[in-house]
Amino acid sequence: MKSVQDNCGVFGVYSDAECSHEIYDGIGFLQHRGQEYCGIATHDGGNDSIRQVTHYGKVAGSFTNTDLEYLKGTWGIGHVSLWERQPVQWQSQLGQIAVAFSGNVRNADELAIDMKNRGKAFYHGYNVEILSKIIMEEQDVVTGIRALAEKIKGAYSLVVLTKDGIYAARDIYGFRPLMLGKGPGRYVVSSESRAIQNLEMEVVRDVRPGEILLINDKGFQTLEQIDSPRTAHCAFEWAYTASLDSVIDGLHVQEARNQLGASLAQRDIEEGGMEVDIVAAVPMSGIGHALGYHGRSKVSYQEVFLYNRYADRSYTQPNQVAREKMAKRKLSVLGYAVKGQRVVLCDDSIVRGTQILYKVLDLKQAGAKEVHVRIACPPLMYPCDFGISTRSYEELAARQYFKEGDITSMERLKELEALIAKQIGADSVKYNSLDAFTSALGMSGQQLCLKCFDGVDPTKS
Ligand code: SF4
Repeated sequence: MKSVQDNCGVFGVYSDAECSHEIYDGIGFLQHRGQEYCGIATHDGGNDSIRQVTHYGKVAGSFTNTDLEYLKGTWGIGHVSLWERQPVQWQSQLGQIAVAFSGNVRNADELAIDMKNRGKAFYHGYNVEILSKIIMEEQDVVTGIRALAEKIKGAYSLVVLTKDGIYAARDIYGFRPLMLGKGPGRYVVSSESRAIQNLEMEVVRDVRPGEILLINDKGFQTLEQIDSPRTAHCAFEWAYTASLDSVIDGLHVQEARNQLGASLAQRDIEEGGMEVDIVAAVPMSGIGHALGYHGRSKVSYQEVFLYNRYADRSYTQPNQVAREKMAKRKLSVLGYAVKGQRVVLCDDSIVRGTQILYKVLDLKQAGAKEVHVRIACPPLMYPCDFGISTRSYEELAARQYFKEGDITSMERLKELEALIAKQIGADSVKYNSLDAFTSALGMSGQQLCLKCFDGVDPTKS
């Protein structure tokens, strides 16, 4: 298991028919965004009519038919998470509501202290409780969501279930994705378009940064558009987090990954070309990048790892050693493809460096003559504060070599690449530079959050 992980995914549907099965399917299509907890809340139209079920575990292995029958109603929300059970359900001055979000509240401690001083109590103190309580202090849901924009430092894509329908909102920077879709008799909102597409509905558009919507039998109504000083879409969504079949803020994830891989190939071409036999991917996240490398370089694409779909429960292992052992079992080497070959191996990022070290070792033990590692993202130098679970500075491999975090010049980047290559036993390592990365995504640094690479907080720039 990599130590950069997704955090959460949200889904909501307003339908003319019972909706629990559709929410179950919807959050199932978002499972890659969080595998520890899952939950659904539905509304059947009466007063005090929210029903909710949450589980520890994945969607398919957790919800039963009895759960889905109990979850009566034609509108509802769902959630998958790495950290916490959501949705959370409340009785409040706004009536009965349920809330789920994807993101991170950076000033959660400060807000919780302020609330406790004003007599509020917390069940767990999770981010979602803080968000909910800010909303519930106001006279209506829209005013409450507007208050989030003033009080919350961080990122949120949010769904709120009420008797009026489903309120959906995205923070003013648009860190985490949120999409609208529609199908016969129903309207949906989802963290990623793949849930909408795979439920055979039409993707309508992204929720805009700062937009507050109500979704009900009238369709989508924008109730408010809060001014956004700039966007800060998480660049890591396109490189790693989002599913290859999603489109986020107008850019297809597959296209983004192909372009990032092509950019790596372009650098190799410009630096004299590579004498190699095959280009391959670390599944699954490296596939789009490797295909992009292949497209630009014309080096043959080859599968060198077989993904074992039945060994995917590494999250249940009790410690890091056990998790890494299980992660290793997920991929077996295809020795026939590798023996005697000079391999370019593409992946999205390097966190600690242990996983890619095992992959290089596996390929060499299977007879690969050379392994050249190509990484789509620039080196990870800073933890994420906006809802992606990166580890501390101490666990970021690149940070161990450049403690001050500066890798902006090509000279520094090349110096780091040589050190990482030595650490992981590769014949060479190259990353996309920050400039190459943004230009492959076709966006400027002012549109993106790049904080885990350059340390710049987009809410302050
Ligand atoms: S810090 Fe990195 S992972 Fe976090 S939101 Fe920004 S780009 Fe995404």
